[in-house]
Amino acid sequence: MRSILCLVDDKHVPLYRIMWVSDLPHFCGHEDCEREGEYEVRLEQDESVWATREERDQIIQALESWQGGITAEDDWS
Ligand SMILES: [Zn+2]
Repeated sequence: MRSILCLVDDKHVPLYRIMWVSDLPHFCGHEDCEREGEYEVRLEQDESVWATREERDQIIQALESWQGGITAEDDWS
């Protein structure tokens, strides 16, 4: 079964809720920033979750195969 959920920061996020995924790690220069080096995953309704690079790559892969429709082979492991 193809999953429409992906795991980001311990949250199972439905792929269809994702608006965009950051290509570059977050950097804002704030000393107390807890998100430095993480990748922002923007959701509907002004929500964001934060992914590691590995998670980000998995999300993009999942989005691509999800958008690709139902013909592609499932390659989840
Ligand atoms: Zn920041």
